[in-house]
Amino acid sequence: MSAVVRVADRINALEESATLAMAQKSRELAAKGHKVINLSIGEPDFKTPKHICEAAKDAIDAGFHSYTPVPGIPELRQAIAEKFKRDNNIDWKPENIIVSTGAKHSLANALAATVNKGDEVIIFAPYWVSYSEMVKLAEGTSVILEGAFDNNFKVTPEQLEAAITDKTRVIMFSSPANPTGSVYSRAELEAIAKIVEKHENILVLADEIYEYINFMDEGHFSIGSIESIKDRVITVNGMAKGFAMTGWRIGYIGAAKYIVDAINKLQGQVTSGTNHIAQRASVVAWDDMTAAETMRRAYLIRRDLVVSGLREIPGFKVNVPDGAFYAFPDISDYFGKSDGETTINSSDDFSLYLLAKAHVATVAGSGFGAPNCIRISTAASDEALEEAIERIKKACSELK
Ligand code: PMP
Ligand code: GLU
Repeated sequence: MSAVVRVADRINALEESATLAMAQKSRELAAKGHKVINLSIGEPDFKTPKHICEAAKDAIDAGFHSYTPVPGIPELRQAIAEKFKRDNNIDWKPENIIVSTGAKHSLANALAATVNKGDEVIIFAPYWVSYSEMVKLAEGTSVILEGAFDNNFKVTPEQLEAAITDKTRVIMFSSPANPTGSVYSRAELEAIAKIVEKHENILVLADEIYEYINFMDEGHFSIGSIESIKDRVITVNGMAKGFAMTGWRIGYIGAAKYIVDAINKLQGQVTSGTNHIAQRASVVAWDDMTAAETMRRAYLIRRDLVVSGLREIPGFKVNVPDGAFYAFPDISDYFGKSDGETTINSSDDFSLYLLAKAHVATVAGSGFGAPNCIRISTAASDEALEEAIERIKKACSELK
């Protein structure tokens, strides 16, 4: 490559997002006329609730077309502060809230604002694909802690304790988790908090974007509500999943004021306040939770359908996700097998084989730090999911 057309080292070092890459491959195959079932990208197949859409239309008509304050409009920061109190038992004032362009942006901002070169960021694996890459961009070092299949892919407090060094700066994870659907219980989070308490320099980056898609009886618990470490927990959330608002691009953070101020400074130089119409619309989201609850119930039915369907496929080891909308089967039994043309040696091979042979798009576990698994989004109609399982079953039966 010539000196003129080169790109920066930080881009060369970055992996492409595995979720977005697979979604693109799926689109390309569909554009060629194939009937592809796209279970790659994690995106609700529902429309945004009506009251939110109406508020957006009203915002346009009322002329809310201008820039907003960098951390978000006061009404939305107030509504989020109330939401943190009501749903999460976290007492944040509006000054502790900053709104950004999706939870992805919130996470990247939080890391950029708190991690110095060489700081270690402990990531619970399997993890969402972008975590390790965001850490790279922040010049941190990822320390991956693997949750065992038999512990529903959750990391234990003992594992965490053993991984902490004097370079540890952040511990990050999602609960309910992408890609496993695992949910950390209150007791598990309290045990983690006990360890964090002992290390004053450590922050927790808690990604709670799947909060409203939780199937546990005990419901959602936020580690940020534990008073002893409250000031060191950055809680990330957003409108995308619970309210089916992926394209609206609203994410937010609740954190200690010095962290919010740091992100404000960064955001002020990079993106400014996010979309004004989407912010106005989000203010009313929590006024009516009926649609969010209807979607949660639908995801639960699909979870059961997919788990039982996948368990019928020989060689699939399938955990029961307690939240989110993914199944994450271990398919390593197929490694070394072939249909006569393609040999499966990795989760990437397996995922590509399913796309080519069954026209079902999934995502390889390798990008999630789980090379024995594939991720299947259950955010699709029951019919599409049933059809996909049949297709996967048939494709697998040809691997000997
Ligand atoms: N965190 C997790 C765990 C996710 O799965 C996603 C996927 N969208 C995000 C954050 C980012 O969400 P957003 O669309 O709000 O950027
Ligand atoms: N979070 C979703 C997923 O994991 C959306 C895609 C993305 O932003 O990576 O598929």
